[in-house]
Amino acid sequence: MGVKDEYIDFTIPKQKTIALIAHDKKKKELVDWCEKNKEELSKHFLCGTGTSARLVAEHTGLPVKAYNSGPLGGDQQIGAKVVEGKINFIVFFSDPLEAQPHDPDVKALLRIAQVYDIPIANNQSTADFMITSKFMDEEYVHGVINFDRNVEQRVKEGHLV
Ligand code: PGA
Repeated sequence: MGVKDEYIDFTIPKQKTIALIAHDKKKKELVDWCEKNKEELSKHFLCGTGTSARLVAEHTGLPVKAYNSGPLGGDQQIGAKVVEGKINFIVFFSDPLEAQPHDPDVKALLRIAQVYDIPIANNQSTADFMITSKFMDEEYVHGVINFDRNVEQRVKEGHLV
């Protein structure tokens, strides 16, 4: 992890930690997508929000670590792991046609994935492009905002008035 001023080099390893999330009306789509991509997915570590993780595990036989259910904080747990650098690839089939009780959490996860430059697929075609990328089989080095420098600067600027 080399410090390059405003950005730090982060490495998404060859063996990725992939989070799988789907809203209720998209769960079948996620399970089918995982079944279709089972061979590639089996090379990585899988996790997901409670119900999605269980359904994928039961239908595909792949091991999937389950966090809490999305409406009970699962998206936030996954977001926290992104911040810690422990989740580095997300497939999130959100439902664009139905209001979600945890909409702020959904937005927060999308935002934090953007801040940490994590690949995140919100629909099947994006997930298809991502899973067939040459980077699935190699390390990927990318620049992430230098949070230490960012805090130093903000402290220097004061923010006490
Ligand atoms: P679930 O959560 O997998 O527990 O259903 C997904 C979500 O609604 O964010």
